[in-house]
Amino acid sequence: MHDLGHFMSGKRISGKGNRSFPIVNPAQGEIIRHVTCATKKEVEDIVQNAQNAFPKWADTPPATRGKILSKFKNLLENHETEIATLIAEEHGKSIFEAKGSLARGLDVLDYASNIAAHLKGDHLENVGRNIDCYSMRQPIGVCVGITPFNFPAMIPLWIGSIAIACGNAFILKPSERDPSCPLRIAELAYESGIPEGIFNVVQGDKEVVDMLLAHPIVKTISFVGQTETARYIQETGIHYGKRVQAFGGAKNHMLIMPDTDLEQTIDALIGAAYGSAGERCMAISVAMPVGDQLADKLVAGLSAKIKKLKIGPYTDPNAEMGPLINQAHLEKVKNYIDQGVKDGAKLVVDGRSFQHPTEPKGYFLGGCLFDHVQPNMSIYKHEIFGPVLCIVRVKSYEEGLQLINSHPYGNGVALYTRDGDTARDFCTRVEAGMVGINVPVPVPVAQQSFGGWKNSAFADIGMHGMEGIRFFTKLKTVTERWPSGIRKGVEFSLLTTEHK
Ligand code: NAD
Repeated sequence: MHDLGHFMSGKRISGKGNRSFPIVNPAQGEIIRHVTCATKKEVEDIVQNAQNAFPKWADTPPATRGKILSKFKNLLENHETEIATLIAEEHGKSIFEAKGSLARGLDVLDYASNIAAHLKGDHLENVGRNIDCYSMRQPIGVCVGITPFNFPAMIPLWIGSIAIACGNAFILKPSERDPSCPLRIAELAYESGIPEGIFNVVQGDKEVVDMLLAHPIVKTISFVGQTETARYIQETGIHYGKRVQAFGGAKNHMLIMPDTDLEQTIDALIGAAYGSAGERCMAISVAMPVGDQLADKLVAGLSAKIKKLKIGPYTDPNAEMGPLINQAHLEKVKNYIDQGVKDGAKLVVDGRSFQHPTEPKGYFLGGCLFDHVQPNMSIYKHEIFGPVLCIVRVKSYEEGLQLINSHPYGNGVALYTRDGDTARDFCTRVEAGMVGINVPVPVPVAQQSFGGWKNSAFADIGMHGMEGIRFFTKLKTVTERWPSGIRKGVEFSLLTTEHK
């Protein structure tokens, strides 16, 4: 069976490590290939190779770097179906969803292609007599991205394109569960003209991550994954003196006011809660209708639609929802559902017994809907990361807002209402990093920056947009004085103190 290795010096290299992981097609429950973990020597080689390539790339004019990134984007677009199929095969999401996630990655690559404009600094003239002051943003060196399984193209592109556009060398450590797509992306990066050593992929798990965290050449760590891992990455990275941004898990709420457009809200919730089988850090996993009348209608409308969801493998063009990533995760999600029932929540739609007719070994789970969920239940407190929506009924806007603000996660949040005053108050007071007003999954566009609050992000600075550019550059401020003698016809050596 085919074993995946690493990408360095412009080519794939087979791994020499003696530890490997099976890569499973989650729709079939079958191992399709393996990925080999890097050895210490391989990590060392990749980091050193990146460091060697860095100075020339850093010295390449930003506009030239941008043009190369533009070619990279075109090449990825030409390979859209191939990339989407790799994502779908190893992750399980539909081709439509895979293409959508690639498109969001390409938006950031497009933004990065215009890096010359984004790197413009400030200039203050005559801050003192004949003295000017200006700032510049310079590349940092070798930057590492450690990414999760749920978006194997989008998140590496969010991190990698900005790191590379800013003039750095980038090493990606993708998830060991779906590493084929990131490997192919690195290959296409090289084919588009990004020099060897600038976009590298190293495979592995915690052991490899720990080597990268401790490596003295590595300057920045960008992490996306579970909260516990994010916390560990931030603490360890800081211990080793790295610049760190670590994004974690989520429990995203939608607060729904009685004046909402009910049909629109139900449609939005179906997409936001069950898209990508709920394996999205921006998925809505808690809906909070205000008042029992609205809650009853919402539950009835949602139940009817959840039961009609078409569940199947990515090879079925009609499938709206795919399987979960692996058997262990399927068990974990089912355990949460069992616990929710034990705790007294009402399981209105139960997807636990769903079996796909032609893929009995696939990790499929039907959509689930819980009503009457209470804040002390584990299905409310923890991230489930599956197609499970919890309805928490609240009596007032204020009660809902207080619950959201006291939840330990604060990634995305949404409010559904027709009232501008309520919306404005919500935006001001809600404690979450990304807010949607009548927008269920408010993932910021490339020009803005992505990032949550509280346990959803251990980072003072967001991904992509200007925050991303600041993360991947060092600020330098120059204060300079030039002798004004030449202008005045005075010899440089004869300048008076006044001129100096
Ligand atoms: P994960 O934390 O298990 O793995 C993420 C990466 O870290 C992988 O590359 C993995 O190999 C590595 N890793 C795993 N355990 C490690 C350890 N103990 N030490 C060092 N490295 C380790 O996350 P996952 O299961 O792949 O992804 C799902 C999680 O990611 C969910 O919690 C989801 O909410 C979160 N996520 C967050 C965002 C965000 O922007 N906040 C975006 C996408 C996904």
